[in-house]
Amino acid sequence: NYPIIYCITPTYWRYVQKAELTQISQTLKLVPNIHWIVIEDAKEKSDLVRNLIEESHLIATHLVAQTAPVEKSKDKNPKVKRHRGVEQRNTGLKWLRDNLVPGKHKGVVYFMDDDNTYSIKLFEEIAKVKRVGVWPVGLVGGLNVEMPIVDENTGKVTGYKSGWLPNRPFAIDMAGFAINLDLILTKKDANFSYQMAKGMQESEFLSYFTTKEELEPLADLCTKVYVWHTRTETPKISGTIPNIEV
Ligand code: UDP
Ligand code: MN
Repeated sequence: NYPIIYCITPTYWRYVQKAELTQISQTLKLVPNIHWIVIEDAKEKSDLVRNLIEESHLIATHLVAQTAPVEKSKDKNPKVKRHRGVEQRNTGLKWLRDNLVPGKHKGVVYFMDDDNTYSIKLFEEIAKVKRVGVWPVGLVGGLNVEMPIVDENTGKVTGYKSGWLPNRPFAIDMAGFAINLDLILTKKDANFSYQMAKGMQESEFLSYFTTKEELEPLADLCTKVYVWHTRTETPKISGTIPNIEV
């Protein structure tokens, strides 16, 4: 009895977009009961993403939500550099809340960025989530891995190994947790926001749903790495051939 896993993926145009989406969609093909929610950071849905979703034959919902231009600033000043994927993730959450009924629809919600590397084993762990599950994320925060610290005797999360502010309420990357659909549907106010401090999106969002003590440590009590926060190098393109989708 495998629950439906709703994967919320923000995505935006750049040369590697199709390559990234090809990789993650083909990972998802290897997993049962996926509902892929793709939200383009664009004014309108693109043919590239529409065709890719169609050809994947995944159960999918294609949405669009453009990041407000003021929020897109790439300024070096960290106070100006804004969070990524905020409107897109919120649009995915809104779709779930508008279209699914608590109690009737069962599932788990996972924020699946388009550029990370996901093992199919990760989805077996996500399928076990009762309320909020957590696990290690490789190659993030300046460490080889960020991970919840689990007390061997109690099986509870007691803290975090994190390269950055380990004392945050939840020092966990976006790729390191999943939440029961019912919680997402009933806590309607839980959204991401630009008001959240840098690096605090995950902590503030998770605080709507749970406490550290309640977290469910998965992936063999957080001893296995099934997702990596990889980042794809921007290719140097010196010429473009027209009339071919790349
Ligand atoms: N993203 C987006 N619009 C942007 C930048 C990023 O929709 O202007 C998406 C991106 O495709 C990814 C997620 O938001 O799915 C997180 O972005 P990114 O991977 O660049 O963030 P980082 O890995 O640096 O945290
Ligand atoms: Mn990324």
